[in-house]
Amino acid sequence: MSLNPIRPWRNIERRKSRQIMVGRVPVGGDAPISVQTMTNTDSSDVKATLAQVIAAAEAGADIVRVSTPDESSTRALREITRESPVPIVADIHFHYKRAIEAAEAGAACLRINPGNIGSADRVREVIKAARDHGCSIRIGVNAGSLEKHLLDKYGEPCPDAMVESGLDHIRILQDNDFHEFKISVKASDVFLAAAAYQQLAEATDAPIHLGITEAGGFVSGTVKSAVGLGNLLWAGIGDTIRVSLSADPVQEVKVGYEILKSLGLRTRGVQIISCPSCARQGFDVIKTVEILEERLSHIKTPMSLSIIGCVVNGPGEALMTDIGFTGGGAGSGMVYMAGKQDHKLSNERMVDHIVELVEKRAAEIDAAARADEAVSG
Ligand code: SF4
Repeated sequence: MSLNPIRPWRNIERRKSRQIMVGRVPVGGDAPISVQTMTNTDSSDVKATLAQVIAAAEAGADIVRVSTPDESSTRALREITRESPVPIVADIHFHYKRAIEAAEAGAACLRINPGNIGSADRVREVIKAARDHGCSIRIGVNAGSLEKHLLDKYGEPCPDAMVESGLDHIRILQDNDFHEFKISVKASDVFLAAAAYQQLAEATDAPIHLGITEAGGFVSGTVKSAVGLGNLLWAGIGDTIRVSLSADPVQEVKVGYEILKSLGLRTRGVQIISCPSCARQGFDVIKTVEILEERLSHIKTPMSLSIIGCVVNGPGEALMTDIGFTGGGAGSGMVYMAGKQDHKLSNERMVDHIVELVEKRAAEIDAAARADEAVSG
């Protein structure tokens, strides 16, 4: 991430991690922070699972995890990985055979803790399958399922116990000369997760997968994840993220992206800057923004749009956005292009016209990016 010399208060210096590949998606190093989600369908139902994977990918997911608890799900995984537009991580808990089957079925990554696999021979078999099939591994430590000897040693799940668990799993992979792994130390408690991740970031250079596990429903889970992940990402920690919500995976992806967008770590689609509205508003800001969010959800080009109720803040916000609209009097307002007043617009035509302007501007930005790419070869 290049640092911003003009606005140094926006700089986030990312922790230096090794880079691994999850399929064709790089994780760690200077790779963009990837957004993940997980399907919640019956994984042996190819059609339903694939539909969810595709919807998540459309919403911006870079990687999708699918749990594979039994043979029928690892069998279905073959078709899912073949048809999926994004790399698939197979979620395995204990069963080493499922891990081997998932690797053979085209999983890009196995989420498995080597310390839970069993004998050294079984560990070797799983690592061999991962190596043979180009799979990386995610070690997933969870405060809720720490090893008994660590709970006995520390008395309760705490950052020391979680990091020790993670390093124990790492050691098993390293002893087998396997280095294509990333690691998470998740907890549903924000303090515990943040402290564990901070400690982990000091203890290893492996890429870190961030998550506040079992964060809750849409609103509470979003806030909890934003506080927990936001804090860590701001400190430069985290190479890939998953927001865990009791909600549709598409919502998880959207929230994940919004967290990264708000820290300037990734951009995608239209970022709408809008005011909360008040008695001064020249049009119904809340309803308009709701409609625009829906109508502009197909735009993937990163750009900004300010929708502000009146001149108190409208012209100022428009200065910093690609397109702006500020409410005025008598049923009309002002459109700003690249910060400059451009033309008057009636409230009635506003939504359709702004959608047109955004689509046109997005096409121009895309064409300019393609031309730049062609020049730089
Ligand atoms: S920008 Fe205008 S309409 Fe919006 S909240 Fe501020 S004063 Fe109210």
